[in-house]
Amino acid sequence: MSSLASCIFCKIIKGDIPSFKLYESEKVFAFLDINPLSKGHALVIPKHHGEKITDIPDDMLSEILPVVKKLVKATGAENYNVLQNNGRLAHQEVDHVHFHMIPKPNQTEGLSIGWPQQ
Ligand code: 5GP
Repeated sequence: MSSLASCIFCKIIKGDIPSFKLYESEKVFAFLDINPLSKGHALVIPKHHGEKITDIPDDMLSEILPVVKKLVKATGAENYNVLQNNGRLAHQEVDHVHFHMIPKPNQTEGLSIGWPQQ
């Protein structure tokens, strides 16, 4: 469990840790994953610190999926995963709610990436 003060994603929102920012609004922030499963792998997060989806106010949650949709459209991906992990047993590593948007490369590009791979 990470507190607000030590949370990596809160530091990214504040600009204390650099990121490749894709989108920002009053309630939502989106950036590229540092360890992408495919080109364009993005993370969309609420600015409100909460560990799991149940910790996030509804008005913030409802602003996240439209941003995920914008990013999908921006990549032009026809195949993609939208994922959200809660808890260690569900493969959550960073304790600040985040939605993954993972474009799936075409077979012709020679990559086939599955999720989760553990
Ligand atoms: P989880 O397993 O918690 O659902 O996913 C956490 C994601 O956060 C991972 O895909 C990981 O690569 C990404 N991540 C962890 N630390 C950083 C960071 O400092 N910067 C960025 N851009 N992504 C991070």
